[in-house]
Amino acid sequence: MSRSASLFEQAQAHIPGGVNSPVRAFKSVGGTPLFFKHAQGAYVIDEDDKRYVDYVGSWGPMILGHSHPDVLDAVRKQLEHGLSYGAPTALEVQMADLVCELVPSMELVRMVSSGTEATMSAIRLARGYTGRDAIIKFEGCYHGHSDSLLVKAGSGLLTQGVPSSAGVPADFAKHTLTLPFNDIDAVANALADVGQSVACIIVEPVAGNMNCVPPAPGFLEGLRALCDQHGVVLIFDEVMTGFRVALGGAQARYGVNPDLTTFGKIIGGGMPVGCFGGKRAIMECIAPLGPVYQAGTLSGNPLAMAAGLTTLKLISRDGFHAELETYTTRMLQGLQERADAAGIPFVTTQAGGMFGLYFSGADDIVTFEDVMASDVERFKRFFHLMLDGGVYLAPSAFEAGFTSIAHGEAELKLTLDAAERAFAALQNS
Ligand code: PMP
Repeated sequence: MSRSASLFEQAQAHIPGGVNSPVRAFKSVGGTPLFFKHAQGAYVIDEDDKRYVDYVGSWGPMILGHSHPDVLDAVRKQLEHGLSYGAPTALEVQMADLVCELVPSMELVRMVSSGTEATMSAIRLARGYTGRDAIIKFEGCYHGHSDSLLVKAGSGLLTQGVPSSAGVPADFAKHTLTLPFNDIDAVANALADVGQSVACIIVEPVAGNMNCVPPAPGFLEGLRALCDQHGVVLIFDEVMTGFRVALGGAQARYGVNPDLTTFGKIIGGGMPVGCFGGKRAIMECIAPLGPVYQAGTLSGNPLAMAAGLTTLKLISRDGFHAELETYTTRMLQGLQERADAAGIPFVTTQAGGMFGLYFSGADDIVTFEDVMASDVERFKRFFHLMLDGGVYLAPSAFEAGFTSIAHGEAELKLTLDAAERAFAALQNS
């Protein structure tokens, strides 16, 4: 038995399902999850000493590659001064200043410890600011696991939302309206009907939790215009896209400014960090300035700030995002060529250093239905074939993939060689 398999067995004794976050259990691809013990550059190394080119990157934060020496040094340096004070630090001031410089729509920012906290707090803030209770989200988008956001559409578009998890009271879910992603007419109709009661629209500007679906032309612009028209706060959840699809996030890439933004992942450089912020007039409603309560024992943790700040500075160099995008494009083109050569229907999507792979005959992937129509069984086989070939993809057909700046020619070749063998095996099965 492999060490991963035996650890997984052991883990199940005292950890629900053996994992601390469900997707890690490999339930949607089958098989046994890999337990990692080390990561360096573009690679993760498992407990059985097998190396994989990593396209998960801790689900997004590791844009510099793993164990970047400058990030590790910054954390080590801070370590000498203590782990946490629960009091203000100079590092937090630097972080807030840098975030506001890199993302011009941010005027005030509050640090938290996860993406879930960031979106939950942004929604409370939007409700407090507007005095309205309803929120709008989109099918297939994920914004963390707070009660208001674990909600799916009811039976009709304008019906009240229903919980998508046990334990979420229907009374909470009824305030969440779920609309189809990339369908601006549905948003216009909903707001025409109930706009007066809607506090905010929260959207992943590139949907990264139903694989990877970039915004249709006009969708984000349309949201901006409709929010202005109806006095609704527009929240971009850039936990995944922030500092990745462009230095200034999706809002810079697509040229649409939200009122509030949430960040996570990259902003912590691999440490547990999130943040929300935006327009001064809205952010001033947060305690201690205003009546909307929000707090955190470890918020602005100095080790996390050190890792995040160093990461943000390193990715701010000229050409960083262009390089990341070029690798990603070349990798996806290489996959497409090999799938085509094997006669396997295959489509890819991309936004900078973020990508989606679909076993699908569709021309493009625009809607949740397009995503759902892809061949998940084929993805599962592909996932395991790639794993055998030394490439670690996200263990689900519904998660975006991530590249890092440490991915270079050697990793490209390894990935494409593994894919060629995988497509050939799929062709013969
Ligand atoms: N928003 C988005 C867009 C995410 O992708 C995620 C997590 N993948 C979250 C929020 C929640 O972040 P966390 O897991 O740090 O709570």
